[in-house]
Amino acid sequence: MHYADIKKIDVANGPGVRVSLFVSGCNHHCKGCFNQEAWDFNYGKEFTEDTINEILEYMKPDYIEGITLLGGEPFEYENQKELLKLVRRIKQEYPNKSIWSFTGFEFDKDIIDDMCNKYDETKELISYIDVMVDGKFDIDKKVLGLKFKGSTNQRTIDVQESLKNKKVTLFKFDE
Ligand code: SF4
Repeated sequence: MHYADIKKIDVANGPGVRVSLFVSGCNHHCKGCFNQEAWDFNYGKEFTEDTINEILEYMKPDYIEGITLLGGEPFEYENQKELLKLVRRIKQEYPNKSIWSFTGFEFDKDIIDDMCNKYDETKELISYIDVMVDGKFDIDKKVLGLKFKGSTNQRTIDVQESLKNKKVTLFKFDE
């Protein structure tokens, strides 16, 4: 896997102060995508054991609430194996920090009904993810100022509640 960027301090892609990992590779090709250079799976740097250690170090301070995975597309199958290594380590070392992921796939149709039936990696990966913002960016449904998303079709999903309830359950923000 390759990645385009790691932000040590990010307040734009989830609650609180977070670390963000922008992975490379995305086949959705949404019109108006904010990050087209990351469509290429070979864009940026190689993701290695050292990258994982670097991210864990960035996540160490108490003020870091968690990590956000975005891209590119974290849920392209090509990216899932390496992300799994990362999130396993995060859960071991920081069990109380949250893991958010953005995806252009739809949580129920593409991830649960399709990928989880095909790939063990997907099943394990979503078992560690707290919140997923799903769906392709749709420029015709773009609204400025939406909380952590770009278009109104996208949903902010509480992944663990959804798995427990066996239906899509939206994340409730603390007000
Ligand atoms: S899913 Fe995200 S990275 Fe991929 S094309 Fe759409 S907006 Fe761009």
